[in-house]
Formats: sequence, C-alpha cells, structure tokens
Amino acid sequence: MGEPYIRIENLSFSYDEPDGQARNHRKYAVKNLSLTIEKGSFTAILGHNGSGKSTLAKLITGLLVPEEGEGKIYVGDIKVTDPDLSDADLQALHRRCGMVFQNPDNQLVATVVEEDVAFGPENLGIEPLEIRRRVDEAMERMGISEYAKHAPSKLSGGQKQRVAVAGILAMQPECMIFDEATAMLDPAGRAEVMEIIEKLKRELGITVIHITHNMDEAVGADKVVVMNEGEIALEGSPEEVFSKVEKLHKLGLGAPDGTELLYELRKRGIDLRSHLIDPDECAKEIYKKYLEANKRT
Ligand code: ADP
Ligand code: MG
Repeated sequence: MGEPYIRIENLSFSYDEPDGQARNHRKYAVKNLSLTIEKGSFTAILGHNGSGKSTLAKLITGLLVPEEGEGKIYVGDIKVTDPDLSDADLQALHRRCGMVFQNPDNQLVATVVEEDVAFGPENLGIEPLEIRRRVDEAMERMGISEYAKHAPSKLSGGQKQRVAVAGILAMQPECMIFDEATAMLDPAGRAEVMEIIEKLKRELGITVIHITHNMDEAVGADKVVVMNEGEIALEGSPEEVFSKVEKLHKLGLGAPDGTELLYELRKRGIDLRSHLIDPDECAKEIYKKYLEANKRT
C-alpha cells in the first residue's frame, strides 16, 4: 500500500440553490462519498450517465466547491475544501491536478500545437526559456514533436488528446484526471490515450484518474470505482469489481467481454472461474474446460 494522495471524506454536493429549508429535498450529485487514492496509482471510475463522476472530478480539482460541512477533500497537503483556501493554494491545485475532457476541440486554445502546449506554463508566469524546455520535453514525451508547428485542428482525435496532455505535463502536474477523454475517439485514438495513461504512471509517477464507459479501459487499473447516484456502489481491484457481474448489470453496466462470456457459460451450468478479466486468461479458461470435456467423451 502506497501513501494516500487524494483523500475524500463524507463529501456531498448538490447543484440546487442553497436554501436552508429545502435541504432535505435537494438532489445530490455526490452523496456522502469517501475515497482514498494512492500516490502514483491508476484509478478507473465507472458509472452510467448522471452518476456523479464529472461532479466528483470537478470537486477534486477545485472547479466546484462543496458547501461548508459537506465533506472534506485533500490533494497532497492542500485542503481543497478549506473555506480559507488562498488564491495561491488554488493556483497550486490547478497546477498539480490537470483535467483532460471528452471533446479535444474544446480544450485546445491556440492555433499552433506548441503554442497550445505553452499556454498553461505561460499562465503560471514561468520564464520563457524554462517554458521552451518544458514544452519541448512534453511534446517529445507525448510523441507530437513533429506536429509542433501544425494547426491542432488538422490532427486526429487521439493526437489532439496528446496535445492536451502535453499542455498539462508542461505544468509539471502530480495528478491527471481524464473525464471520458476516450469517449469521442475511434479505437486507435482510445488505444493512444490508454498508452499515454500507462506512460504517465510508469515514467512520471503521476496519479491518474480515468473516468470511462469502456470496461476494457479499466482492466489495467490499480483500483476500480463504480459510482451510482452520487455514491460508490463498488470499489476494489478490477478482478474484485468485475467478478460482480450481476451487480454491474443492475447498475446498468457490464463487465469486460471475456468476463461476460464466462458469466453466461456459468449460468448454463459450466463450472468456470468468475474473476478473470484478461481476454487471454478467459480464453484459456474456456479452452481448459473444452479439453476436459473432450477427455471424458
Ligand atoms: P456523470 O459525469 O457521471 O455523467 P454528472 O456529475 O455530470 O454525472 O452529473 C451528476 C448529476 O448532477 C446528474 O443528475 C446531472 O443531471 C446533475 N448535473 C450535472 N451538472 C449539472 C449542472 N451544471 N447543473 C445542474 N445539475 C447538474
Ligand atoms: Mg461526466
């Protein structure tokens, strides 16, 4: 177990107007949620539309602020929910925790890739030589150096998301939240983003939260969190969470394809292990059963 990086305690948030009397009738987007995320880990957050995933992400990054007494959030040593949070702390939080959103076109601001990557550090008031160094390094790491002088609009969806990530990297973050950043991409673009996430974790020790609808993208996570109506419905390793196929179905979700197949076969009375999530492992398990059955006949 590593050290905690993000700590959330009894967090609630409602978009409704604060109005003392109506408090019991309010609709909460996030409800009494507690969660710890370890430094340098990769957490996947799943949940159907409206389950509160984006709201949670915005609360962590300080884009939304809960009312006083509605829970606590710590990011590293910054107490995000401190009513006296200074502007300097808020700026430090924005630098530490970057967000990548669904639509790559909405987050690219400049007309040239390298200018876009420089936008964040420029806003931090970093000196030009250091910005140049950081921008080059971030573009190199994201494999977009050859597009440095190109217009972002000419790039593919996956490449655009790489530019967005490079722009955050240039601010030297500790944490990155991908809010359905793969949702608008084709399979190749999705694979590009998943590769980036793996790299951020492995090479830079960045704490990554990946919000997604795609179960397969959660298989490699250190921890999977399933949200439902603002609460955590399931939490654990991918094996733990995805072995609860029936519960996932009740929450309007599925398990990875291989796990679903094992589940369906088990329902038909075939004795197969339930916690497998890797397609190759699932295939091996089924093949093993097939060989056993052949031996008997
Ligand atoms: P998810 O990201 O899981 O789809 P959201 O966090 O966007 O879920 O939404 C959670 C709940 O909050 C939903 O009921 C949604 O309708 C509501 N909600 C989200 N954004 C707003 C907003 N800006 N104003 C009012 N209600 C909102
Ligand atoms: Mg969302």
